[in-house]
Parts: sequence; structure tokens; C-alpha cells
Amino acid sequence: MYDLVLKGGTVVDPSAGLHGGYDIAVQDGRIASIAPTIAREEATRVLEVAGTIVTPGLIDLHAHVFEGFNGNGVHPDLGGVYAGVTTIVDAGSAGCATFRGFPRHIIPQCRTEIIPFLHICQTGLATSPDIIAEGSIDLDGTLRVADQYKGLICGIKARMVSPALEILGMEMPRLAKRAARETGIKLMVHIGDTEKRYDPNVIRSLLPLLDDGDILTHYFTANPGGVLDANGRLVPEAREAAARGVWLDTAHGQSNFSFEVGRRCIDQGLLPHCISTDLTVPGRLNTVHSMTEMMTRFLGLGFTLEQVVTMCTANPAKAIGAADRLGSLGVGRQADISVLQTHEGDWVVYDVLGASLRVKQAVVPVLTVKRGEVFTRDWGPRPWGWEPDPAPSGEAAFKSCC
Ligand SMILES: [Zn+2]
Repeated sequence: MYDLVLKGGTVVDPSAGLHGGYDIAVQDGRIASIAPTIAREEATRVLEVAGTIVTPGLIDLHAHVFEGFNGNGVHPDLGGVYAGVTTIVDAGSAGCATFRGFPRHIIPQCRTEIIPFLHICQTGLATSPDIIAEGSIDLDGTLRVADQYKGLICGIKARMVSPALEILGMEMPRLAKRAARETGIKLMVHIGDTEKRYDPNVIRSLLPLLDDGDILTHYFTANPGGVLDANGRLVPEAREAAARGVWLDTAHGQSNFSFEVGRRCIDQGLLPHCISTDLTVPGRLNTVHSMTEMMTRFLGLGFTLEQVVTMCTANPAKAIGAADRLGSLGVGRQADISVLQTHEGDWVVYDVLGASLRVKQAVVPVLTVKRGEVFTRDWGPRPWGWEPDPAPSGEAAFKSCC
């Protein structure tokens, strides 16, 4: 007898070669069967999910969930299991001086799986700006905490922003890389200076530092230090980095996502590998809203559903080195499953510069299965729920960027 059967959905998992009508059975937190039909009588609980899209559990590769420690931290389940997301990578909210709050106070209080990166700044993002002096980095403390929490901490995070670069220059990302290499974990680097102060060419010095498996986040930023030169061409180092195996992630957030930049990167043929939110409390309310809305944006940019699902499941699972457990559906694997719907309509989404993109399909969550446990979506980030803003009536009122 299975614990649960999801019945009648359309399974979309390109990494497993699945696209079609399948039932999925779950037992003891693992996927027990995937078959065209599984009899209702074989399960204790049956959820009818006809009309939905069933994917591997969504992974948000860049969000901020250090709630209660950092002012902008979202409750993990709000961006997680109640929003169609089974795993959240916290992108360096905590540094070595504050990290213990995660295992002690955050992780025991939520059902969404959290995979934290450790900020190279010892206080993480508790204050802004993060790095304010050379002493903001405690390399020994960082190595110690990364070692102590091996298996929980997945990587080291560095942010290419002012004043960190004015104080430390390229020594800052080099220290982060050293910490990552010495502890054998991943490296994630934020590009785009929200203060708009540093030399945009710094990207050309940064990218050669990144090796196979490192993650570049905010690929579509319009802030100084992004991947486009003054003429809108990709800097050659960006292609070289991608060819070496550097992951390109498009974390949105409140200030680092531009449709115009994205369109130029796409037109020049260098596609991102991962989609993520960079969710924070204000970002959730004002600019980024949800992981499913990020999927909506990429469908609107012309990506196929299969590409979008891959960028939210198999690719981030590989980027964090968890592909053996997360990001794909398969018998015997951990039962992390997202049940979503695509609604047809007429909406508009905005990037952080206020540029708009009209979309005809909106992805919304329905329910989430995390290690076999079922969670129903909450109301959603907007007063009316999960769908984006309705498109303004009358074509004349509408100025599209793309
Ligand atoms: Zn972030």
C-alpha cells in the first residue's frame, strides 16, 4: 500500500525523459512508482491532479531566509513549500559570526529544505553594506564554521559590490575562492554593484577567477559589473567561463534583473542555466513575488516549459552538487515533487527597472510534496493570489520593452 498517489497530472521532467500522463506513487518519503496508471486502491491517500503539471521539486538557487536574524529574511516556507518550492538555497545571508542561527533556530522551524551558502563577510547580510573594513572578513573563522557544518553548508558567497571592492579589491573574491577551495565546497559570486560606483570592467577580472562548478549569480543585472560591455556585447570572458563549466544563474531580487540585458544575452546565444528569485521580504512584495513568477517570466522570454523546468530543477541540483538526491523524478529517489498549473490570460510582469513584458501564460503553484509530505499553497504574494498584474487594457496604454 502506497502512502500517496498523485493521479492524472502531466509529468514534465526533461532530466528523466518524462513528458506525459503519469501517476506517481510515494512511500516512506520516496518515489515508489511512476506509471501511466496506478490504481486508487493501492494508496492510502489519492490526490487528483488532472490539469496540472507535475515536476521535480523546484529548487530556488538564490533566496534569503535568515528570518529574525536579518531584517529582509523571508520565512523559508513562505518562499518554499507553500509556494511550490521544495528546496531553498540561502545565498549567504549568514557569515561565520552568525551562521549558527541556521541549525539552531531556522532549520528546525521549517519544512522546506534549506541549503545555506556562507557569506565571506563574517556578519553576512545582517547589516548593509556587508563588508565595511578589511576586518569584515575572518578567513580562519569562515574555514572553521564551513568545516564544522560540512554537509550542511554548501558553498561560500561573495558579493562584487561597493564598498567591499574599494576596500579589498579583487582580494575579496580571491579570499572567498580560497575559503571554498580549502573546504571543498562551492563558490557563488554576485555580480552587479547596486551602489553603481565601481569600474564596470571588474567583470573581466572576476570571470577568469571562476572555475568549473562555480556559480555566477545575477547574470541579467543592468548594474555596473554585469556581463555586457558598453556596446551591449557579452564580454569574451563570459563565454569562456560558461565553456569552462561556470553556472549562470539569473537571481532577480530588487535590483539585479533586466529584460533588456536578458534579451541581449539570449540573442548572443549564451543562455542561463538556472532561474532563481533572490527572494527577500520587500522583494516578495514588490519586484520578484515568487519562484513560479520567475518561471512565468522565462516562458514570456520565449523559453519552453521543458527549458524552464530544467532551470529550476535538474540544473540547480547539479550546481549545488545534490543531483543524486534532488532535481529529478525517479523510483527510489527522495519524494520532492511540485504540482503546478499554467493559466492562460493576459498579464504583465516588470523587471527592476520598470520595463514590462506581456505574458500570456502564468505559472502558479498548486501543491508541494517534500519528502513525501503534502503542503497546499498559501494565498500568494499579491492581494489576488499568484497571478501577475493584469495587462493594462488598450494596446496604446502599454509600452513593452521586448
Ligand atoms: Zn541575494
